[in-house]
Amino acid sequence: MIGRRRFLGAAAGSLALAACEAPSSSASHIGGGFEGIDMARGHALRDGSLAGKAPQESRRTRVVIAGGGVAGLAAARALRLAGIEDFVLLELEDEPGGNSRGTAVKGVPCPMGAHYLPVPGDDAREVQDLLEELGLRRRVAGRWEYDERHLCHSPQERLFFEGRWQEGLLPVQGVPAGTLAQYQRFDSLVESLRRREHFAIPMARSALGPGQLALDAQPFDAWLDQQGLDDPHLRWYLDYCCRDDYGAGSEAVSAWAGIHYFASRHGFHAPGSAADESPERDAVLTWAEGNGWLTRRLAEPLGAQRVLCGQVVMRISQGRSGVEVDVFDAGRRALVRWQAEHCIVALPIFLAARVVESPPDFLRRAAATLRHAPWLVANVHLGAPLADRPGAAPSWDNVLYGTRGLGYVDAGHQRLDPTPRETVISWYRPLGPSRHDAGIDGRRLLLERPWTAWRDELLAELSAAHPDLAGLATRIQITRYGHAMAIPAPGLLAQLGGRPQRLVREGRVAFAHADWSGYSIFEEAFSRGHWAGTAVAGRPAV
Ligand SMILES: Cc1cc2nc3c(=O)[nH]c(=O)nc-3n(C[C@H](O)[C@H](O)[C@H](O)COP(=O)(O)OP(=O)(O)OC[C@H]3O[C@@H](n4cnc5c(N)ncnc54)[C@H](O)[C@@H]3O)c2cc1C
Repeated sequence: MIGRRRFLGAAAGSLALAACEAPSSSASHIGGGFEGIDMARGHALRDGSLAGKAPQESRRTRVVIAGGGVAGLAAARALRLAGIEDFVLLELEDEPGGNSRGTAVKGVPCPMGAHYLPVPGDDAREVQDLLEELGLRRRVAGRWEYDERHLCHSPQERLFFEGRWQEGLLPVQGVPAGTLAQYQRFDSLVESLRRREHFAIPMARSALGPGQLALDAQPFDAWLDQQGLDDPHLRWYLDYCCRDDYGAGSEAVSAWAGIHYFASRHGFHAPGSAADESPERDAVLTWAEGNGWLTRRLAEPLGAQRVLCGQVVMRISQGRSGVEVDVFDAGRRALVRWQAEHCIVALPIFLAARVVESPPDFLRRAAATLRHAPWLVANVHLGAPLADRPGAAPSWDNVLYGTRGLGYVDAGHQRLDPTPRETVISWYRPLGPSRHDAGIDGRRLLLERPWTAWRDELLAELSAAHPDLAGLATRIQITRYGHAMAIPAPGLLAQLGGRPQRLVREGRVAFAHADWSGYSIFEEAFSRGHWAGTAVAGRPAV
């Protein structure tokens, strides 16, 4: 039962959210609903109704992979690369891919969650290998080139600011000289930290020295205050970046996370800086169905006999000679016991701690420490392209200054045929702690709010830039993620051990999930899956 104070806080938050919603009458023609996550399946684990029941059948394999997100799929690929074919991947939902699945609305493909992969840097060797294998990257005349069809087409991003669209996401049109000066100063600070410390993706390749641990110890906002970086436009942009990558605002994540976002990639680009002019800046790969393009390719070679969906992993127990994995097969409503030599637990940490019997101390501690941001993604089918406000042209990523949501990406942006036609726009709504959502309980809202309330919120928000949105929308499909991604809160790296470990393992059980990096992106999940699969196959990690 929730306490009165929390209830009042959540209720006040709901009212505040309700106040900014459009009247739903103008939207009543739009069909839609929730999709993608079977909450009852996920909660079967928590309610304990199946606990202690005897399995009805027993099966044997060499390796069980529990969880079929990016990490689980990467582990499966690593096993195959090592010549191991005798394994199963057990996935809760009806399709593997986890937060990186694709979907379609009225036949138009679109992302259900993750939608892009930045061109990987030199530390992300495992991801580079994958992209080569998939034909996305190849060496031409001594240089690496990426397949133009999958690099995000131009224009990539724009911001609706002061009633017009401007290119890029950093507010620049008409901002005062003081704002530009603070952009420059933040740029220089990131650059000097980048030279001094190695901020790597995947983070396990960082040398987490005292400098990075000092950043980890404090909130990003506090660090910015100390540097005298108080310009509201700069602060809006940095907060937006934190909500975009971590699902939580700049007051809730560590300064390490705030800096890592820029220093591990191509830096921060103050207008006019050398980095701002670089053609390499912000190159990203994207597809109509988002990173679902990648997860489908990872799943394809495994085949239906090895990827088993609708499987709720309930209990993992290791003995001296093997591992037992008890699973509820939701399709057949049967309890199955798998016997294996090894298990790779590619589940979020809080679930791993629940299903692994007698969890090791490091797992228990990590589960007690780590908090997850809830998220919501709404895919809106449009019968025709949106009319536009003045300024920069429609882009792949379209952000509105000062809103709770993160704007939208256009699933039709990568089409090679420019004929204007129906499309799907994907609205991203983080629900972790943030000053934009003071007093709300995001997870509870996800459980309790009807889909029409999210519809109205998104229409109210995006209509500022597109007044014709409600008229053109024909269907809205919404995916709710209760525990979408780890929040890299202050002190988290120190609490997770202070030393980035590539392989997290206890006997016959290896752990692989983006959570073990303290924040969630494709590269982290993929590398961890790869390392776990390689280790279980008995190969030295490179
Ligand atoms: C809305 C959203 C947008 C994002 N956008 C991006 C982006 O654009 N780019 C990017 O790089 N990253 C993005 N991310 C981060 C994304 O989380 C990672 O890229 C990656 O998909 C994480 O993979 P994972 O395997 O670590 O975790 P998960 O995706 O959490 O995979 C865990 C898997 O375990 C399954 N599972 C859970 N419980 C059980 C059980 N009991 N039994 C069996 N299976 C179970 C789940 O269904 C899931 O498939 C986004 C995340 C969200 C939520």
